[in-house]
Amino acid sequence: MRESRGKLLIIGFGPGSFEHITKRAREALEESDVVIGYNTYVDLIRELLTDQEIVRTGMTEEVSRAQEAVRQAEAGKKVAVISSGDAGVYGMAGLVYEVLMEKGWRQETGVQVEIIPGISAINSAASLLGAPVMHDACTISLSDHLTPWELIAKRVEAAASADFVIALYNPRSGRRTRQIVETQRILLKHRSPDTPVGIVKSAYRDRQNVVLSTLGGMLEHDIGMLTTVIIGNSTTRIYDGLMITPRGYQRKYTLDADVQPLKPHQRLQSEAEPWALKQGDDGADDDDYLWEDSEDGQSEELEERSEWPGGADRSGSAETRERPAASAMKAIHATPFELAAEALRLVERSKGIAGADNAAYAAPLFRQESILEFALSSGLANKQFTARQMLALAEIAGDKGTIEYSPHHHLIVRVPTSEPEALASRLREEGFALAPIGDVVQIKACDFCNMEKGESVPYAETLQRKLGGMKVPKELRIGFNGCGMACYGAVHEDIGIVYRREKFDLFLGGKTVGRNAHAAQPVAEGIEPERLVETIERIVAAYALDGHPNERFHKFFKRVKEIEGYRHRDVPAFVIEDAVCGD
Ligand code: SAH
Repeated sequence: MRESRGKLLIIGFGPGSFEHITKRAREALEESDVVIGYNTYVDLIRELLTDQEIVRTGMTEEVSRAQEAVRQAEAGKKVAVISSGDAGVYGMAGLVYEVLMEKGWRQETGVQVEIIPGISAINSAASLLGAPVMHDACTISLSDHLTPWELIAKRVEAAASADFVIALYNPRSGRRTRQIVETQRILLKHRSPDTPVGIVKSAYRDRQNVVLSTLGGMLEHDIGMLTTVIIGNSTTRIYDGLMITPRGYQRKYTLDADVQPLKPHQRLQSEAEPWALKQGDDGADDDDYLWEDSEDGQSEELEERSEWPGGADRSGSAETRERPAASAMKAIHATPFELAAEALRLVERSKGIAGADNAAYAAPLFRQESILEFALSSGLANKQFTARQMLALAEIAGDKGTIEYSPHHHLIVRVPTSEPEALASRLREEGFALAPIGDVVQIKACDFCNMEKGESVPYAETLQRKLGGMKVPKELRIGFNGCGMACYGAVHEDIGIVYRREKFDLFLGGKTVGRNAHAAQPVAEGIEPERLVETIERIVAAYALDGHPNERFHKFFKRVKEIEGYRHRDVPAFVIEDAVCGD
């Protein structure tokens, strides 16, 4: 009964070469009575056909192609509708369903439909370029035949701003030439002109052509109807003629911090991913590539392992699949990098390459980039930058770095680099002062009236040397002002130090931000200079030791009531709700 019902076989035959056509796609072609497709596609698969009737159509006749296919299937035939790549990606699958839906077709009673997946251009192009997709990616067709240009432009904008890797399909034709230019303009608003771009023409076909370019330079190359353009994301790099997007994002490199950038094999582990949305504190290991899946009694781990060299062949059915090789069994808790390194080792060993066992770890293929992040100033007391320094800074920040002006006499600089230490030394050689940012001690001094009142500067410098950058529960600013005018606002900081009549006055617990901000409390006058540094050291040490995580210094002072003998005075305060940032 079912047999007499006609069938639609919607086939994606991949990029174009026979090797990349799936087994099921070949079978479906063989079992069909009629093959319907665009001329070029019919030519591509011609050799696989025997006595099927062939219905060729022009490129723009997609709708009539779909209608014809449905008509013939309804007449009881097995009809193959062919698309290049995958039929569900700007292919015939949706169109055929649209025609069917219009006719009130139902799965139970209507003609049978089978969609046979194929390798889409994003995958075939990517395989020729290296590994440019890897991370979150999207496809955007620049053809505005069926989609209004405003919508396409909006999608390009959204994808660009969200840092997707983007595969552009239908980028340009003889008539549609402006779309790719406009797309480049939108992308350049969000990404550097150096962003790697891969241009692949006729992947796995006779005239295959692969070009590596950049976002700025991409339009100088031949881009046409048979081209797929892959735009890298902000982490994509070119290495030895290949375009590679790392699996994860760059880690921050904080100056002088204990924890520094991870080696590739340390990445992709949950403890290395402070940016992740936490799943509560149940301590569950939520590694997404190693989770257990019991659907068919086999774990995802096993699935994962069977994919790497030396593991089982996964082409067999679940029943016939071999157990992974013994060496594979050890790798249950390996990271993807370790798996890749193991694969490399096995290949090199089988080729008899000496030293293969350590090769992957000993000679890193490329140096991991991280984002060097620091607060930069012209110095503790010196508030002037020179033109030469600004030039050096501009050069170091380059196109990819950012320089942000902070409210604390600092420029916050973030630069992607694989050599953070070298870059930091270069800036120090230029006379800049660099400090880590985050929950650390920062010394904020005045300019000592252009150094005319500079007697107390050595004390500020000693504090900077001893305490600057030290980790504390929450960022802690020590204001240091060189005379009683305290015009740089030391008394408004967490800890205020004011030099007056050759001695120091001390202020503790300013609330520096918020609508109920208040100055610090004066706790001591006339501290002898030789006692200053140790006094401050002891106060900071107490806070570092006893402060709760994220507890600001003024709250700590209020809670413990006394630090190093300095008592907190409770002052009745107006209760004003702190505003949430952004309100
Ligand atoms: N269904 C197809 C896409 C059809 S739209 C698929 O899944 O791949 C046509 C566009 O696909 C072309 O303009 C080009 O951007 C891309 N394309 C298809 N085959 C390609 C190939 N062999 N090499 C490069 N790009 C290809």
